[in-house]
Amino acid sequence: MDYDVVIVGCGPAGLQAAIHAARKKVTVAVIGRPEGSGLNRAEVENYFGIDSMGGKELLAKGMEQAKRFGAEIFEQDVMKLERKDDSFIVITDHDMEFKSKALVLAPGISRKKLNAPGEKELLGKGVSYCASCDCNFFKGRTVAVVGDESTAASAALLLTEYASAVYWISKNLNVSPMLMAKVKATKVEIVSPASVARITGEERVKGLELNDGRRFSLDGVFIELGAKGSANLALDLDVIPDPTGTIEVNAGMETGVRGLFACGDVTGQPWQLARAVGQGCIAGTNAAKFVRTEAE
Ligand SMILES: Cc1cc2nc3c(=O)[nH]c(=O)nc-3n(C[C@H](O)[C@H](O)[C@H](O)COP(=O)(O)OP(=O)(O)OC[C@H]3O[C@@H](n4cnc5c(N)ncnc54)[C@H](O)[C@@H]3O)c2cc1C
Repeated sequence: MDYDVVIVGCGPAGLQAAIHAARKKVTVAVIGRPEGSGLNRAEVENYFGIDSMGGKELLAKGMEQAKRFGAEIFEQDVMKLERKDDSFIVITDHDMEFKSKALVLAPGISRKKLNAPGEKELLGKGVSYCASCDCNFFKGRTVAVVGDESTAASAALLLTEYASAVYWISKNLNVSPMLMAKVKATKVEIVSPASVARITGEERVKGLELNDGRRFSLDGVFIELGAKGSANLALDLDVIPDPTGTIEVNAGMETGVRGLFACGDVTGQPWQLARAVGQGCIAGTNAAKFVRTEAE
């Protein structure tokens, strides 16, 4: 499907970008799930003009507004980004492919930690939050991926190309049937329902224990909760985020890649609604301008 502007993220930054881009009469697709937005769990009291409002309600209003101006919203996860000639290609967990002239990254930040004993202590010593960054260190090793959604599934798939054995540990599998079929066709061993009690090891990861007492001997544990994270998405396009996953942008919300913009929490602190919508406005406006200039 061809659009002028594709926006990854259905939070306040992505939706505000969609509103501003769509009002400039370019075609806009937003890909993301509102329930994945940080705002979905917030009760907002510090936003201009609003005494108190549930974030969920604000998101619903923002989605309606974006649609009213012509943006289309696809409640899916982005699995892969590519650059082909002068276009961006966006592939989702529903196996849909989107092509656009400009791309806006607004995937928020991943605050998602497992909070299991051993996780913090063994970070960088076998515990990783980024399969595409660290897969190469686990050639011929045994690893586990922990998570329920598309990011865990895609991490497990990727790791099958490196590790000798891959376990996917999930409390509650929550991925599209297409993606699940892909995982099932590989050597990934699915362990579900299962929850992690602790990650074991001293100098390095040695294994993992589940709450039901089962134990696994492992060399690596990849914690991949939620949708594909900002660091992974950016890396697909050769944008190198800092170690916290923050993407650098200039005042126009441009990254170093032509036609690629980023906005919201993913570009840094303060992680606040006001900053997210402000940046979304700039990113959406400039993405639309970019498309129109290219067309002239
Ligand atoms: C509990 C809580 C309370 C808060 N309270 C306040 C408050 O009172 N006031 C305030 O100003 N701020 C508050 N915040 C912060 C505020 O919610 C964030 O700053 C704001 O939501 C950031 O907007 P964003 O669009 O950048 O990211 P998010 O709102 O996090 O949205 C990110 C979007 O990207 C999507 N996404 C991520 N990866 C992918 C992928 N691979 N494919 C497709 N989509 C993807 C997500 O599903 C989501 O739709 C709070 C946050 C939390 C968590």
